[in-house]
Amino acid sequence: MRLYFVCPFTGTGFWESRWELQGRLRVEADASGGRRVAGSVEVNCPVCKDRHEYRVEDLVCALSRVEPESEFN
Ligand SMILES: [Zn+2]
Repeated sequence: MRLYFVCPFTGTGFWESRWELQGRLRVEADASGGRRVAGSVEVNCPVCKDRHEYRVEDLVCALSRVEPESEFN
């Protein structure tokens, strides 16, 4: 599955499928009684060639983005 990341150094966004889940995903309850997925992934950044770690929580909103190259053609 390709996910959308934003390089923290350059601010450039990129799609990447070769990310690695760090540890296990957890389901946590938030203060309002809802549930959310928690965990982290690491990805080798094609922009700055460094390796970044992202919280899954931060990527969830990115999943709602329209991926231009697939699913719609
Ligand atoms: Zn980067």
